[in-house]
Amino acid sequence: MIRYLYILLTTVMIGCEVLSSEFTSKNELKEENYSDQRKELRRRDNNSSFDASVKLTDREHQANAKLISLRDSLLQAYEKAQYFPPAKDFFKSREHIQTTKLYGLLKQMPKGGFLHMHASAVKDFHWLIDKVITLPEMYVHWRSDNEQYLKGELRAFNEGEEPAGFVNVAELATSEESFREKMYELLTLAPETDKDTIDIWTEFDKIFQRIGGAYAYEPIFKEFHKVLFLSLLDDNIQHVELRQIMFDGLYDLAHETGYYNEDSIVRIFKKLEIEIQEDHPQFSLKLIYTDLRFRSREAIANSFANAYALRARYPEIVKGFDLVSEEDAGNSTLYYLDAWLKADSLEHVYGIDMPFYFHDGESNWYSNTNLYDAILLGSKRIGHGINLAFFPSLIDEVVARDICLEVSPISNQVLGYVEDLRVHPANSLIRQGVQITISSDDPAIYQYEGLTHDYWSVLLAWQLDLRSLKKLSMNGVLYSALSDREKSDALEFWQNEWDEFVNLLIDEI
Ligand SMILES: [Zn+2]
Repeated sequence: MIRYLYILLTTVMIGCEVLSSEFTSKNELKEENYSDQRKELRRRDNNSSFDASVKLTDREHQANAKLISLRDSLLQAYEKAQYFPPAKDFFKSREHIQTTKLYGLLKQMPKGGFLHMHASAVKDFHWLIDKVITLPEMYVHWRSDNEQYLKGELRAFNEGEEPAGFVNVAELATSEESFREKMYELLTLAPETDKDTIDIWTEFDKIFQRIGGAYAYEPIFKEFHKVLFLSLLDDNIQHVELRQIMFDGLYDLAHETGYYNEDSIVRIFKKLEIEIQEDHPQFSLKLIYTDLRFRSREAIANSFANAYALRARYPEIVKGFDLVSEEDAGNSTLYYLDAWLKADSLEHVYGIDMPFYFHDGESNWYSNTNLYDAILLGSKRIGHGINLAFFPSLIDEVVARDICLEVSPISNQVLGYVEDLRVHPANSLIRQGVQITISSDDPAIYQYEGLTHDYWSVLLAWQLDLRSLKKLSMNGVLYSALSDREKSDALEFWQNEWDEFVNLLIDEI
């Protein structure tokens, strides 16, 4: 035992010696070696950054210098004004962001993939409001919230079958001049919404309840997604992955509940992908089978098995499994362990694997340990991972296993997890080699579309350059659920777009 302790102590001491001997102690510091040592520490940090592997071409260096000068001139202007938008309420600067030259340029940047979204809350709600007004069978609950319905809850009914409190949308839009504005207010979070996490989640969940009956209405569903995907293409996003809740299916007024099942949803998406590819051959779409972490163990176990069956039927588009909704209020990932441990036997039955894409670590609490399970269960990517910084061993695992975090900066800010985007945990994690992609989660609720506002915010808040932008953008393809073959096609298209973007920066700045 003593001998063991001796060996242990010597090892520790030698370890310390090795660590300290690389840098001179304070007393020995001299002018000539100080700057070398400082540079060496800086070099180490640069080498561990998430974008260290990216090599810039001469033209990219040229574009980078211009981008940095534009970035720094904005930073100086905000410093002078003593108002830095990414550190303040997003709603107060949303419109200002859109007027900047940087926004105009970033809008044209190819953004690879948009890997974390909930489709019903991605297309600006003005479209959905205008759409429901044109459908005579669409009704809205226009009384105060009650136990069953919320004010603003939309649903289609046969005439005369609408429950008490529901009024015809088309008629209401004619009789009440401000209907559109009132409805938009009910479907978005406003600047004055209390940022306390629990309150904001209550408001947030209500919005999904209000739009649910319009989103899942079969005559709207396909057109809604078409308009959505075209708006994302307009933001230079080529690949899209949806967290899709399947268990409720869709409905219309001509068929029994259950007629439009999970297969119907997948078939609509497959058709739509082909349709959009006619004009935009670069477009690709994948689905992640998603359920809610409020449901029972039994419900999730069933859903997990259904996901295998569906993926076995459509392996080219159904790519994985996830659980959503407010993590701190819902069940832990560990709570459903029995279901996850059936993965091997389900894989055997259905002859196909089921990668996880868990929403985990969307929390400011140390007691939320969902990330341990996301990593042990082999999650391919992780949605949010905000509290990863609390768990050093998990940071090492995320880097070693090359797991990508889906970071939604503005969503995190609006929902109250981070106030000032400069101290968003991802700003530190990327310096430690953690790979991330930029998403926007539910931008329609935050009154915007696409990814440009998020890129704008982190470019300034994290003082990113062209190298980091290039890596972030490429990660949207590299860490997607596309097959290897699809990835190489997608990267080929992306590269051309990227080269054009580099030219644009050189010409326009
Ligand atoms: Zn999400």
